[in-house]
Amino acid sequence: MSAGADPYEDALAAAVRHATEWLASLPTRQVGPQQTARGLAADFGGPLPPEGMAAAEVVEYLAHNAEPGLMAMPSGRFFGWVIGGTLPAALAADWLVSAWDQNSGLRYATPATAAIEDAAGQWLLQLLGLPEESDVGFVTGATMANFTGMAAARWRLLADGAWDLDRDGLFGAPRIRCFVGQERHDTIDLGMRYLGLGRPTVVPADRQGRLIPAALETLLAGGSGPALVCLQAGNLHSGAFDPFTEAVRIARKHGAWVHVDGAFGLWAAATPELAALTSGMELADSWGTDAHKTLNVPYDCGIAVVKDSAALRSAMGISTSYLIHDADGPGDPFQKVPELSRRARGVPVWAALKSLGRDGVAAQVRQLARCAAGIAERLAEVDGIEVLNDVSYTQISLAFGDDATTRAVTAKIIEEGRVWMSGSRWLGRDVLRISVSNWSTDTDDVDTAVEAVTSAFAGVRG
Ligand SMILES: *Cc1c(COP(=O)(O)O)cnc(C)c1O
Repeated sequence: MSAGADPYEDALAAAVRHATEWLASLPTRQVGPQQTARGLAADFGGPLPPEGMAAAEVVEYLAHNAEPGLMAMPSGRFFGWVIGGTLPAALAADWLVSAWDQNSGLRYATPATAAIEDAAGQWLLQLLGLPEESDVGFVTGATMANFTGMAAARWRLLADGAWDLDRDGLFGAPRIRCFVGQERHDTIDLGMRYLGLGRPTVVPADRQGRLIPAALETLLAGGSGPALVCLQAGNLHSGAFDPFTEAVRIARKHGAWVHVDGAFGLWAAATPELAALTSGMELADSWGTDAHKTLNVPYDCGIAVVKDSAALRSAMGISTSYLIHDADGPGDPFQKVPELSRRARGVPVWAALKSLGRDGVAAQVRQLARCAAGIAERLAEVDGIEVLNDVSYTQISLAFGDDATTRAVTAKIIEEGRVWMSGSRWLGRDVLRISVSNWSTDTDDVDTAVEAVTSAFAGVRG
């Protein structure tokens, strides 16, 4: 370091300036990116120059050149997929996590982040009404949270059948029968692929995408052996929740492990008015959710919750001579997640929860659902627009007559850029999806969304 110069200071100051400008632009900027990845390639690519560049200059270059290719995902007018914004406390905490640079696998080595993540985990269990003895692991997203829960399931189901998975692997093991609702998220199948569980048996769903318990009963009764049932809290087209109480009762009768994918829906449990949606969810064995969706922390942050701590730690833990374990205490963070080295991604969760408080979390989730209901109610009144789902949570699926019109309306909305919404196919039709997932979406944004959809529809109709 040269005398008097802090090598971090200029670079971080540039980052703060650019980040602040970016955030300040969100309320008014066009939501979609102005440039394609191909269009940006020349700015970032080419041969790596032999000589380097000062850190602050790198930040300037990066921020300046990336800007045209940024999607305003943290904007209150972004309604695509299920993608939340970032709460100020969570964003700032995320920066601290990077500055602290704690490899958060070992409790004794990084006690601050271990304590913070422990606290965040306890808060989450209380907030979501999940069994207090559960283990909580901080992973990259719901895909990995679901994977982690199902890995614990696989270990337990085989151990209960006297099969030593760690020693003997999966080849020759009793087959685990896996059941998923027809409208589960595709990443459930992906997690099963990672785990060598094969393709699941699909249980029919109703018109809102909810698994039909009687069908689950028939399928479970049609065979025998260890079974894993995956339920869903929050369908991405309808926001619907599987009927947990009934489905868990049936699964239990057949000795099945029940996992719940609640990537964005688990959070309904934190709001008294919406908690009926998640009723019975707490009876499951494991749960996966995202903090980067409904809670609004920065990417990447998923949460795996597993009631059977021994199963989780057997599935995910390792034992090596060079890592000193927290043998007598609550154990090491790395025992609960697939990674060994990782950033302290539970810290932004702690910060988000601390900044909101219990009432604030409830209010945030309530606000998302209210905005969705408001948009749906007003669009349902427009002649020619069909709201295809019961809007009981944060998701809306719309159709505009035929598929070609729906696709044209979707394209026009994106082209006009006041809001951003994604298209999809549901119930055999093209749909426009509106997902309310950002803490900052307010009544003005609701007005803008309604306006943008109706004017695009009018434009397409001519
Ligand atoms: C988003 C989502 C996932 C996948 O989560 P990632 O965070 O993208 O890994 C899984 N299930 C549901 C219901 C989702 O909405």
